[in-house]
Amino acid sequence: MTTPDGRDPHTPRYTNYRFGQSPEPAPEPPAVLAIPHPAPLTPRGILITCPSCGAERDWLLIQVGPQVFVRCRCTMEWLEHDLDAEEAAQARQPGPETEWASMEEMYRGLGFDGILAHAYFG
Ligand SMILES: [Zn+2]
Repeated sequence: MTTPDGRDPHTPRYTNYRFGQSPEPAPEPPAVLAIPHPAPLTPRGILITCPSCGAERDWLLIQVGPQVFVRCRCTMEWLEHDLDAEEAAQARQPGPETEWASMEEMYRGLGFDGILAHAYFG
């Protein structure tokens, strides 16, 4: 398996190699986890709606460390303080995971780049 840019994800990346020095593994980028969430979200019993288009379901949860962002099909995205990483992790579906080279590619691949604004699935 390789990442979209052709890298083996299990091989550490090396940077700044200088003669006579051992290469140091590059620091890992912060893990970003994107979790599609087709159902409505009601953290603390309050239904989340998109402040831009009024959508009430079909979210992409973007977990960055302890923070969870909610992204709408219309590309509106916000930090959702009522959701924590644990709740986001519970929404993960079993199945193959995809690695994306960039956030933009991930949004396109998952249909959250605005092209499906106002489109509900399911
Ligand atoms: Zn929206």
